[in-house]
Amino acid sequence: MSSPQVCIQGSGAVGACLALALAHAGFDVALVDDAKSAAARASSPDLRAYALNAASIALLERLRVWDALPPGAATPVNRMHISGDGGGLLEFTAWQQCVPALAWIVDAGALDATLAQALTYAPKLKRVAAPVPAELKAVCEGRGSASRAALGVRYEPQAYGHRGIAAWVQSDVPHDGCAWQWFRQPDILALLPFDRAAAARAGHEAAAGGYGIVWSVPDKRADELLACSDAEFEAELQAASGGAAGRLTLVSARIAWPLQFARASAVSGEGWVLVGDAAHAVHPLSGHGLNLGLGDVDCLARVLSDARRDQSWRSAGDARTLRRYGRERAAPVWMMGTGTDALWQLFEREVPLLRELRNTGLDVVNHLTPLKRWLAGQALG
Ligand SMILES: Cc1cc2nc3c(=O)[nH]c(=O)nc-3n(C[C@H](O)[C@H](O)[C@H](O)COP(=O)(O)OP(=O)(O)OC[C@H]3O[C@@H](n4cnc5c(N)ncnc54)[C@H](O)[C@@H]3O)c2cc1C
Repeated sequence: MSSPQVCIQGSGAVGACLALALAHAGFDVALVDDAKSAAARASSPDLRAYALNAASIALLERLRVWDALPPGAATPVNRMHISGDGGGLLEFTAWQQCVPALAWIVDAGALDATLAQALTYAPKLKRVAAPVPAELKAVCEGRGSASRAALGVRYEPQAYGHRGIAAWVQSDVPHDGCAWQWFRQPDILALLPFDRAAAARAGHEAAAGGYGIVWSVPDKRADELLACSDAEFEAELQAASGGAAGRLTLVSARIAWPLQFARASAVSGEGWVLVGDAAHAVHPLSGHGLNLGLGDVDCLARVLSDARRDQSWRSAGDARTLRRYGRERAAPVWMMGTGTDALWQLFEREVPLLRELRNTGLDVVNHLTPLKRWLAGQALG
């Protein structure tokens, strides 16, 4: 392969999927996998359990990644049980929404490994240790991207002052495909049904009973929850979940990420484009950061493929073509980012009137079937 058409910087889930999507579409692609990133991945396993929506699964299927995931790496969610801090309740079921699953909970480590394997078989794709000249530079370097700043793009993150703690736990009762979420002040806790956690506990691909947790807590509380013993952490988790999902036992380490909300001031220009967390970061309370990134991938691959069929096609880095990508992604990214942030703000404040309002709001939505169906449709992608 001579000079590639696209050089993708960053081989996280978004960069890897973009490389596969463009290579499958017939573009010559170079994927930069710098030694630092590879070493970071090898040294600490990713304990996140991603909630992926139907649109993300469809993309992974087309990239032939979904069916290659190891057994137990993806668990369907049939029911979501969302509680407020004053008795408010919102419930979704796959049955009511007429879909096979509300989401799939996917093992981040298994997804990374399966993507890495798929990359080795992809046509027209080479892995490189450093950026190479190309018509288009696709920056998929995550929220801390250095190349983004070098392109003159502003990205002013608003820190939530919270960290998201991820870990795997095992329950003494089956999860029955139910995802639990508690919205309150000052924390937000999600228990995501996750067969892989049960398997880790039993040492084999065991039956259901595991959960991936994502627990958003203020920084100081995160320090305490990371420093305490397993038994103390389990007691705190038990109190936070009120025993709704059974008795929970830790089966992994605990890892925390600082949480922020950010959007890049521009996502494309002549010869460059931003994709995934390099372009936008959202609070994980809605479980949508990667879903948005995979939406970017799907859109960019389609826009470039469509443009190449056009007589006026010049190059993969043509600013006019890339603007189409920016325009198409603007609304979904704005809606999900702003909606997630608004939800966080609503539950962040300890004001009695607001508490009444947010809990009544959950109850009202729960009884408004069309609105509930619309919300579920948005989340399903
Ligand atoms: C606790 C938590 C839970 C979450 N849960 C969900 C969920 O349920 N559902 C969901 O959809 N999303 C979820 N997210 C969001 C999701 O994790 C991110 O949106 C997603 O990982 C972003 O992927 P990315 O590839 O854009 O960035 P990253 O995963 O950050 O990958 C960027 C890659 O680029 C590399 N890199 C950086 N700089 C360079 C460089 N100069 N050259 C080459 N490589 C470089 C990095 O080392 C890294 O490998 C969650 C996030 C958190 C923190």
